[in-house]
Amino acid sequence: MEHLKINEIEKFFGRTHVLKKFSFSIEQGEFVCLLGPSGCGKTTLLRIIAGLEQPNNGSVYLNLKDITNHPPARRNFGIVFQSYALFPNLTAEENVAYGLQTKKITRKEKHEKVHQTLELVNLGHIAKQYPSQLSGGQQQRIALARAIAMSPDFLLLDEPLSALDAKVRVQLRNEIKQLQKRLGITTIMVTHDQEEALSMADRIVVMNNGALEQSGLPQDIYDHPETPFVADFIGTMNFVGKTFGASQNRHASIRPEHVKLLFTSSPSAFPVSVEHVEFRGGSYRVLLKQTKESGSLWADVTAEAFKAHPLDIGEVLYAELPKSKLIYFEAVPGSQPPVHS
Ligand code: ATP
Repeated sequence: MEHLKINEIEKFFGRTHVLKKFSFSIEQGEFVCLLGPSGCGKTTLLRIIAGLEQPNNGSVYLNLKDITNHPPARRNFGIVFQSYALFPNLTAEENVAYGLQTKKITRKEKHEKVHQTLELVNLGHIAKQYPSQLSGGQQQRIALARAIAMSPDFLLLDEPLSALDAKVRVQLRNEIKQLQKRLGITTIMVTHDQEEALSMADRIVVMNNGALEQSGLPQDIYDHPETPFVADFIGTMNFVGKTFGASQNRHASIRPEHVKLLFTSSPSAFPVSVEHVEFRGGSYRVLLKQTKESGSLWADVTAEAFKAHPLDIGEVLYAELPKSKLIYFEAVPGSQPPVHS
């Protein structure tokens, strides 16, 4: 059954139309990522769900009940912001205990709850420390513990990892995901980081310009993007045009990992020259320029293949685009499909 339903939400800030009849629903226990570029309306939608912002139109339902006009305090949603928002003059345990003051529980129960929750985020040992004595990752774990301690129906995470450095971010991704599954808390996380969404979400809702572009499993969104925007925003996509077996109104595209590079010419391949090479750890990403036509594309080469045959700038080789890996999009009349350069 749907746990939360967002129905045709409209939001204007002055004359800016920020959310356009936005609808989606989320099931009990699901982890959904709202993913989209800066300014597409993700935070505004999250704030409307939390009750921190009112929509101009449309409704929010929790368990089929209309909660659109409920104030945040009546919603029992835990919220974690990018900025941690901890009280600097309170210790870690006091920060976690803060929200529990409104709960009708004994001091002993409160103490137990705070310490159980701190243990859940592996921070039992820093209970007496102040935020300024903690790392960014630890502070965000405290913010998470504070939200979870309230036993919320829902967890709302607004870019919770974007202020952290790369390594801590990856570690906390796993921790949040595991905790969410263990506790079964229905969660909505806002992010503009596609890697984060792909690695954490049960389902991704891709937003663009205040509207829903596509919603689906991470793998499906990556393998079967329904619009050029989704194809380009999630991962890298080469838009290779009509030349490659596409009909009049369709444009072909292909992921870099599916481009095959050959060192000898073949009827199924076209000549390209190496423009730029990026080392990516386990593989190389190579920018290739078509030698007979204008246009360029990215191709991935495994580290082993690169070692066997290092590619030099300017070197000519042949690119093959396997038909089974091509993804087609309808051309938008009057506009060009995005081209990766
Ligand atoms: P980011 O990833 O940069 O946070 P976002 O997708 O979360 O972006 P929002 O913060 O929801 O986007 O903002 C969407 C649009 O609404 C932006 O154009 C923003 O400038 C505008 N906006 C947001 N809040 C307000 C406000 N309180 N008053 C006026 N305009 C606002």
